[in-house]
Amino acid sequence: MASRNNGSTPFERLKNRYDRDMVCPECGYDDDEGEWLSETDGRRIVYQHICPSCGKVRQSSYTLGR
Ligand SMILES: [Zn+2]
Repeated sequence: MASRNNGSTPFERLKNRYDRDMVCPECGYDDDEGEWLSETDGRRIVYQHICPSCGKVRQSSYTLGR
């Protein structure tokens, strides 16, 4: 068996990347305490962030390759 790393899945790496991008492009609000929500159906992963200041919804999705 290969050695397991500490839960650093591709999902988490992607999420970490998004979690650094918390500034709303619409109003410039820095949602420091917010986070991107992720949802997946196994083939696609969708990240969504709603700005608490202006309500702007940012969404991006990835198709999971293999
Ligand atoms: Zn905003």
